[in-house]
Amino acid sequence: MNAPDDVDVIAAAAPARRPCRQSRVVWRDHVVTVGGDAPVRVQAMTNTDTVDVIGTAIQVKELAQAGSELVRITVNTPEAAAAVPHIRDQLDRMGVDVPLVGDFHYNGHRLLSDFPAMAMALSKYRINPGNVGKGDKRDRQFGQMIEAAVKHDKVVRIGVNWGSLDQELLAHLMDENARRARPLDARQVMYQALVRSALSSAEVARELGLNPDNIIISCKVSGVQDLISVYRALARRCDYALHLGLTEAGMGTKGTVASSTALAVLLQEGIGDTIRVSLTPQPGEARTQEVAVALEILQSLGLRAFNPSVAACPGCGRTTSTTFQELAKQIDDFLRAQMPVWKVRYPGVENLKVAVMGCIVNGPGESKHADIGISLPGTGEAPAAPVFIDGEKALTLRGEGIAAEFHQIVESYIERRFGSVTASH
Ligand code: SF4
Repeated sequence: MNAPDDVDVIAAAAPARRPCRQSRVVWRDHVVTVGGDAPVRVQAMTNTDTVDVIGTAIQVKELAQAGSELVRITVNTPEAAAAVPHIRDQLDRMGVDVPLVGDFHYNGHRLLSDFPAMAMALSKYRINPGNVGKGDKRDRQFGQMIEAAVKHDKVVRIGVNWGSLDQELLAHLMDENARRARPLDARQVMYQALVRSALSSAEVARELGLNPDNIIISCKVSGVQDLISVYRALARRCDYALHLGLTEAGMGTKGTVASSTALAVLLQEGIGDTIRVSLTPQPGEARTQEVAVALEILQSLGLRAFNPSVAACPGCGRTTSTTFQELAKQIDDFLRAQMPVWKVRYPGVENLKVAVMGCIVNGPGESKHADIGISLPGTGEAPAAPVFIDGEKALTLRGEGIAAEFHQIVESYIERRFGSVTASH
């Protein structure tokens, strides 16, 4: 058996990113870089009718305020195309400079040439090569869309989706496979078709004059293992920035877990430059939930920090009251609610770690690992809650006002630690 000092050094570090090209998605003087050394970007998509200018602008604003750095809107009809510049104007009036991405299927070639103001108001076009047209129309219509992107100097996401995979390409690859001495299974051929569709479309776009830095690729599937396999292949075969997301992830816990699992594996391997979590909102749930999940994925992996984190124990038979659950929730809600102001006033506050623990078993230890932590009394313990600041026990709270006092302690800690950062600049 190895002696303890033979144990390898165990380092916890955010994964190194896969080297790739960097795209610049621009609206006026606001630039969102994707790929290269840029942080992994978060994006979302509206579910309003694009013809509803005000409703769409409001939802774009909500998604941007929640943390979406690019927002995609559907551009599916002439009416929707005509609405896009008005949505952009409305956003500009509201002071929202998030770049807009247009999602095109079937008629994008016509809309982009018939509505030049729309083509200019968008900062990026999403083109699905499986939904561009059939036969000889496909190349011509794809070419028209790329020409619009070249003319207006826009970034293009070539977004393949296995629900709308180019059927002619798939049939061709299936035939080719059937002629092999040892044919691959159908799933393997499907993976190849996804990757080939994306990369050959990118090649055509480059031949038509699109700057390769203006190309982002996605190959979305709805199975976790499928997504991981496809993106690993994609990452090996190209140096384009990659848009990562599990398509049709589903609702609630299922959708959240499936997306988190797939994205975490790939991001941990350095694969993925911008992510979207495609959650189906539950009735009454805000569209911004997909952004909240995306931010949590990146923050949990240590790739980015957006909000202070609150560690809380799950509770068990040692704590029979809900005090610590309530306190953990109050603190979490309080910190998130303050962030729009605090992220400006207190640079670095998003890295704050708070712990709210239920009893003495792990309470003091976990609290010492946090910047500021409280260990509430479990069943049978003396009614006292030690507070730890920067790893040291600082004071003990007692009585009915523990929650309010702890809020104040957290607030003054933030002011002291992060307020001085502002003062020193
Ligand atoms: S810290 Fe205490 S209350 Fe919380 S899960 Fe552990 S043993 Fe249970």
